[in-house]
Amino acid sequence: MPPDPLVPMSSPDLTDLERQAVARVLQTPNLSMGEEIQSFEAAFRQHTGWKHAIGVNSGTAGLHLCVRAVGVSEDDLVITTPFSFVASANVLLFERAVPVFVDVDPITGNLDPQGLLQAVTEIGNGGEAGKAWLPRTGYNGSGKLKAILPVDVFGQPADYDPIRKVAQEHGLVIIEDACEALGAEYKGRKAGTLGDLGVYAFYPNKQITTGEGGLIVTDDDQAATLMRALRNQGRAPGDTWLQHTHLGYNYRLDEMSAALGRVQMSRLDELITRRERVADWYNQRIAEIPGVESPQLATPTTRASWFVYVARFAPGIDRDRVAGALGELGIPARPYFLPIHLQPYMVERFGYQEGDFPVTEDLGRRGLALPFSGIMSEAQVDQVCRALVQALKAN
Ligand SMILES: *Cc1c(COP(=O)(O)O)cnc(C)c1O
Repeated sequence: MPPDPLVPMSSPDLTDLERQAVARVLQTPNLSMGEEIQSFEAAFRQHTGWKHAIGVNSGTAGLHLCVRAVGVSEDDLVITTPFSFVASANVLLFERAVPVFVDVDPITGNLDPQGLLQAVTEIGNGGEAGKAWLPRTGYNGSGKLKAILPVDVFGQPADYDPIRKVAQEHGLVIIEDACEALGAEYKGRKAGTLGDLGVYAFYPNKQITTGEGGLIVTDDDQAATLMRALRNQGRAPGDTWLQHTHLGYNYRLDEMSAALGRVQMSRLDELITRRERVADWYNQRIAEIPGVESPQLATPTTRASWFVYVARFAPGIDRDRVAGALGELGIPARPYFLPIHLQPYMVERFGYQEGDFPVTEDLGRRGLALPFSGIMSEAQVDQVCRALVQALKAN
């Protein structure tokens, strides 16, 4: 049995304010659809300047509602990235739509706008070049390209100006997966508002947490009305409790979670600043370790919002062996990401193969997330980096 980790992989940053807010909800009879979710949503309207904020019970649920709201359905094509957490592609499969993967930028790991332009153009032209973008199996060729779903990985927004240009020219909707990027900014604009609909997530390792939870922002009135209905078992405005205009879901965020989130949101700047400080400590130390690179920020990223700290190893270093050695030293670490197209169910359905998205696969082989949270101390960062040096020697 490996020893208990000396430093946790991640930790929420909570104070008595959060604890009291949750306890206060429990003094009332309103545990769902009360004032707390309204305040939580208001905080996001203020944060983004957008008209609509819709709290849901996970980031995945939020992305799924966006996919439904923009009318993506069976066999439709949506361009997205294979270098992400699986949920960003899974929500397309929920609707029997087909993800069209485009490889990523080797520095940021975000959707490559050049590749996107090429994919959209070639798919639009049809023929062999267009077909090469589509999966080998699991697609009958009848669908239409409908949307782009970029992901702001590790807390850094994708490059939206060229992405929006492609979207506008081809009439595609942009769903921004900002589940790792709350508080980040692209050319001074907030992550979550860089497409047409944006989604945040609040699992305990994210910048703010509600336990489980997510939230959608948009300026689109019609999409917002539909998503509010779908979140609440398909009840449209005017429906009674047992009338359901649409096939909906129970994607509601409860009051305890919303209260927790409301307080966390009021601390957003502090939470992000603390994470930034921990990332800086890592950056300083990683710079001194040969064979290991710290994460790089692109110029348009005017503020990164650190989600995880993913160190990248030089080619030739066996990442998994280093991770194993770290584990024996009591330091947890995680490969980030295992490419989506190579997950077993994706291979089975769409016939993807190793080599299909080489940049994603290369990053996936060389990236290792180190323990990270806003409440880590400098001594803990030191401890992790010393262990890393030792683990690399064993390699
Ligand atoms: C966390 C995350 C989600 C959503 O996660 P939930 O666990 O459903 O809240 C979606 N996409 C990405 C990229 C994520 O990191």
